[in-house]
Amino acid sequence: MIYLDSAATTAVRREVLEAMWPYLTGEFGNPSSHHELGESAKSALDTARAEIARILGCRASEIIFTSGGTESDNLAIKGIALATPRGRHIVTTAIEHEAVLESCRYLERHHGFEITIVGVDADGLVSVAEIAAAFRPDTTLCTVMLANNEMGAVQPIEEIVGAAQDFGIPVHTDAVQAAGWLPLDVAGLGIHALSISGHKLGAPKGIGALYVRGGIPLEPLIHGGGQERGRRSGTENVASAVGLATSLRIADTTRAVNAERVTALRDDFIRDVLSDVPSAVLTGPVRDRLPASASFCFPGTSGESILLELGRSGIVCSAGSACAVGDDDPSHVLIAMGIEPDVAQTAVRFGLGAESSEAELRQVVSEIAAAVAAVRGLGSS
Ligand code: PLP
Repeated sequence: MIYLDSAATTAVRREVLEAMWPYLTGEFGNPSSHHELGESAKSALDTARAEIARILGCRASEIIFTSGGTESDNLAIKGIALATPRGRHIVTTAIEHEAVLESCRYLERHHGFEITIVGVDADGLVSVAEIAAAFRPDTTLCTVMLANNEMGAVQPIEEIVGAAQDFGIPVHTDAVQAAGWLPLDVAGLGIHALSISGHKLGAPKGIGALYVRGGIPLEPLIHGGGQERGRRSGTENVASAVGLATSLRIADTTRAVNAERVTALRDDFIRDVLSDVPSAVLTGPVRDRLPASASFCFPGTSGESILLELGRSGIVCSAGSACAVGDDDPSHVLIAMGIEPDVAQTAVRFGLGAESSEAELRQVVSEIAAAVAAVRGLGSS
């Protein structure tokens, strides 16, 4: 199998599983328990939190463990919006993940918020000037993803934060896809809240974290025993928190080398696909793009048929976001970039991993060319 769907999920790393193992077995205590097992679990949780805070460049008290990227986005957006007295207006973009867009829609439906959705250009990049033009005195929050999950565009977050600062508006960023590939230094980004998810970088599914800058009011969404300083109740997933910290540490120490190597592989892959499949269209920007992201439309085919063909050759990739359950509509991201719906239906996303190799990618290019020819042949017969 050639796995090129790392934007959907990744395997748990052996080192991560080994770090987690004690807390799934002998050291299984509840961190709220006042006995030795509980103390040991609490200490593991504290250490994991401190490690994540070190990598993000923030205080440990500013990290909240969640069940993943979706919950982190929900907590950031609803939590800040419902707690902040500034007003009832949110600025976001048309290419956000559903976890962000649906959280905004919920606030619109049930809490009288107004949402301004700023568009993107043909490369999928937002304009800082357009975001700034959407700010109002009652804007409570601006939420813009750091990197897109479907076509890899990396947004100018520092500049957006700069523009928001003039209005005193907090900015949240969904860094689920960026984690492991881009620096997540929250002070450098100037960001007020940032979401990450473990399963995109070698930790298990079902663990994530949210950074919220100290002093930003946050209304909890999950009520109960007051864990996570009252911001997210529920017995903590100690083993997975340890796994998340371990995966983030490994990603952080290998990031620069991996990013350089994978960017070079990715650039060659894109060049070869565009030359061997002349009808292919790259989606997303050529620069300002996540190292691991290569995505195309293959007009005259269907993305699903290409996936099936590639699947027969043992190549695993996806037709776009893997996160919308049973959704056959063309991607809202590609539509926002001005791609026609019938072309958007032909999208295929290749998510490289740190382990991707040149030989593998060369094989994938020839299989793509064969798959496109086969699907087009079927269509014309
Ligand atoms: N945000 C982005 C950009 C994503 O790509 C994903 C998942 O693919 C999520 C949020 C949701 O994360 P999770 O699967 O951990 O809920």
